[in-house]
This record gives sequence, C-alpha cells and structure tokens, in this order.
Amino acid sequence: MPMTREEVTTLALTLMAQHGLTANGWRFRLNSNRSRLGVCKFARAKGRGIFRTVIPVKRIELSVHHALKDSVEEVTDTILHEIAHALVGTGKGHGPEWKRVAREIGCKAQRCGVMDAPAKYLGTCGCGATFKRNRVTERMYRLKHTQCLKKGIHDKGTIHWRTAAGRMLGPTVTKEVTPSNLLPTYFREQLAARGLDNMQHRIIFPK
Ligand SMILES: [Zn+2]
Ligand SMILES: [Zn+2]
Repeated sequence: MPMTREEVTTLALTLMAQHGLTANGWRFRLNSNRSRLGVCKFARAKGRGIFRTVIPVKRIELSVHHALKDSVEEVTDTILHEIAHALVGTGKGHGPEWKRVAREIGCKAQRCGVMDAPAKYLGTCGCGATFKRNRVTERMYRLKHTQCLKKGIHDKGTIHWRTAAGRMLGPTVTKEVTPSNLLPTYFREQLAARGLDNMQHRIIFPK
C-alpha cells in the first residue's frame, strides 16, 4: 500500500529524529527526481555555469515517484539508506563505513536505488536513435545525433523532440527571442554584471 505525502513525511521525520538528525538541523522534503529514489544533501548549488555557488544544507529528499508509489518497507529502506549517508558524513559514498552504519540502523545497505520513471521529453533522430530528457533546456535543442551528424545524414542528426503526450517541441520554441528587459531579474543582473545586458538572448521557457 503506497503512502500519502503526509505519511511519508511523518515516517521520514520520525526515523530522522530517532537517529538524532532532526535535532542536528536536518530537514526532509519530497522532490520530483525521476532517476534517484532518494538523496542526502550536504550542499546545494545556487546558480548555473559560472554563476554557480555552493551553499551547505542538511537535507534528506525522497522522490515522489518512489515515496508515493512504493511500499512502506521499500520507502523505509530508502529513508534509512539516506540517514546512513547523513550519519557518516559527506564524501564516504557507499564504502565500508556507510555500509556498517546502514546495517546498524536496519537498512539493507544496497547502493542508491535507481528508478526508471518515464522521461518527460523524448527526442528522435531520423535514423531512429532516441534521447530522453526531463527538462527542456536550450542545450537539448542544440544536441545532434553524433553518428548522423558525422555522416551528414538525417538533416545532420537533427533531433526532433516531443512530450511524453506526443506534442512536438522544437524550432518554433527555439526561435523565441526574449529581449533582456523581459528576463527574470536574476539573469538580468548577472548579464549586466558581464556587460551583456543589451544583447538579445534566446531563452526557452519550459512548459
Ligand atoms: Zn546512497
Ligand atoms: Zn541519427
């Protein structure tokens, strides 16, 4: 029987409290990650590319695609897996120290689980090669199928993107030009700081 959001949160916070994490400032939240069951975060990145900075955090997160769909036993095991990461500290991976602590607290101590939730966006090259993405990015539209690009076939390896529901994404979206004055303040400030604020930027807003 899958749990509700509230049940998962209560379970996680109860286990975290039992192992002394809550008292130490650790928090819990659900995320929408489609490939990891859970994650133990010691740091969080702010900004992208050259604007990237790292901020320390103490947070255990579980994917809703796992936490709200799988059994109490499986979810409990994932929470304990992440608690063990929190207890041994950053940089220890799934090494002997993590394994020992994980077993001690009643976790099966297997590696971080990987899910196979369906991708949100699917790309195909004319040759039939497929690509998966869960977020629309500008880079995704620049991506080419390398083999076809090298051979100069299938429109030089152009990838056609569509949503899981079949709606095409593509050139009409990539050609949208957003003048700087319509960009979110954060980007505008960053661009101004680099003297790029009077340029036109191609920005794709995920739908
Ligand atoms: Zn792990
Ligand atoms: Zn191809």
